[in-house]
Amino acid sequence: MKHLKFDNQFVQQLPADSITENYPRQVQGACFSWVTPKHMQAPAMVAYSKEAAALLDSQEQDCQSESFIQVFAGNQQLDGMQSYATSYGGHQFGNWAGQLGDGRAINLGEITNKQGERWAIQLKGAGPTPYSRTADGLAVLRSSIREFLCSEAMVHLGVPTTRALSVLTTGEQLVRDVMYDGNPAPEPGAVVCRLAPSFTRFGHFQYYAQQNVELLKQFVDYTIKMDFPHLPELNKETYIKWFEEVCTSTCAMIVEWMRVGFVHGVMNTDNMSILGLTIDYGPYGWLEPYDPNWTPNTTDAQHHRYAFGQQAQIGHWNLYQLANAIYPLIDEVEPLEKALNEYAGRYGKQWLLMMTKKLGFSSVNKETDSDLVKQLLTFLGQQEIDMTIFYRRLANVSSKDDTLDIETAIKQLSPAFYSDELSANTKKALTDWLEVYWQRRQQDSITAEQRIVLMNKVNPKYVLRNYLAQQAIEKSEQGDHSMVNELLDVLRHPYDEQPDKEHLNQKRPEWAKLKVGCSMLSCSS
Ligand code: AMP
Ligand code: MG
Repeated sequence: MKHLKFDNQFVQQLPADSITENYPRQVQGACFSWVTPKHMQAPAMVAYSKEAAALLDSQEQDCQSESFIQVFAGNQQLDGMQSYATSYGGHQFGNWAGQLGDGRAINLGEITNKQGERWAIQLKGAGPTPYSRTADGLAVLRSSIREFLCSEAMVHLGVPTTRALSVLTTGEQLVRDVMYDGNPAPEPGAVVCRLAPSFTRFGHFQYYAQQNVELLKQFVDYTIKMDFPHLPELNKETYIKWFEEVCTSTCAMIVEWMRVGFVHGVMNTDNMSILGLTIDYGPYGWLEPYDPNWTPNTTDAQHHRYAFGQQAQIGHWNLYQLANAIYPLIDEVEPLEKALNEYAGRYGKQWLLMMTKKLGFSSVNKETDSDLVKQLLTFLGQQEIDMTIFYRRLANVSSKDDTLDIETAIKQLSPAFYSDELSANTKKALTDWLEVYWQRRQQDSITAEQRIVLMNKVNPKYVLRNYLAQQAIEKSEQGDHSMVNELLDVLRHPYDEQPDKEHLNQKRPEWAKLKVGCSMLSCSS
């Protein structure tokens, strides 16, 4: 990995914490603290992503070397690396939480690759930082595999996300109380290496705004220069334009989550990327039975603040907090309000466009499609129906002679149903919807073959089902990393039929319904 060319603009351009010792504290007037990763006893490879490695101009053989393991476990520094943790704050579950910061993320610096792209390299679980509060700065294998697999699955699904280069075990054991119920137990430790153009969060701006406007301005100017280089010179108009872009990319990201059935689980403002990337894979989950009220996060079990169907609204709320933070640089409410209002309109439009693509229409019919989609979602929400399987199989609901044969259609969709027998009411509701849907399809200009192609591009066959991730984790904890690598491989082509991988496209088995790690996840990681 000696070929990596570091150009660490974050630490060159932004103010450093004057204290260099590593102990928990409040850091003021600085954007980062110098910190070195903890030395890990016996790091070993679990999995790496060859596509993420390519972003660092690296080949598979680089990833298979001992020095790769030492570098990305945090044991060895490459020439040009400068390691640091950044300070940020955030609203957690709607309340201002004060200083948070990289409590267990350590940045190694930024590189520029052959394509001229800048990639920040960050280790998660590499040891304590000044922002670790009372925690250890480490991560367990369970949550690290979840972060690694989901980051890379999202890329191939076409959802904006931070990347994951590798997941390594550290050879050390950590004690965690998974369900916060007084049952702590040792678990294997791990480190994930993440990549992103930057790891800047809404919470960075919020935290600097709380301190002073100069620090805020310095950070905003830095962000625009580095992450939004296409924007013109730094002035009020540019700040507004920048905020509008953040609204647009956040909206686009959430529409994509809704398309694939992803629930982030902890949409606190410190977990919102300024680049509209999915960031911080914690107690996230994938909808198996379609349920807009579902959240995998047990901390949120009571309020469902971050449930699937709430995500667009929460995105808006978070943008509102960002607007508040940057307001002193703009000193006018109206342009910020306008951008926030546009978010709502844009989301509605893009969401409907996305949903009509899922249904296989070549364009939106404004008169009919909104109702058609709503009726479907009401139906899906009332039954236990697997979202991924339902949409995927809907593409192949067809007929020989232009009239819909309901029995055949229902048979085609039945692998998505969690109950064996459809009640008379369910059958009637589905029949009613399919008949209207069928008519709408017939009016569309594209051929049946074209429709299938269109639908199979937006309705994945394979997603990182919660129970599959859990099975892979349990094997890895026993030292067998084959299933992590199998899932990584299958999820490289989530829209393709992979006949020998049908077992990874099955609805959630009954045993996983209430199992910890499958449907119930905590922030413990
Ligand atoms: P999260 O809920 O994962 O987004 O984390 C919220 C805050 O807690 C962030 O500032 C994290 O860096 C910090 N944090 C989470 N887990 C740990 C840990 N094991 N050690 C230190 N800080 C942590
Ligand atoms: Mg976080």
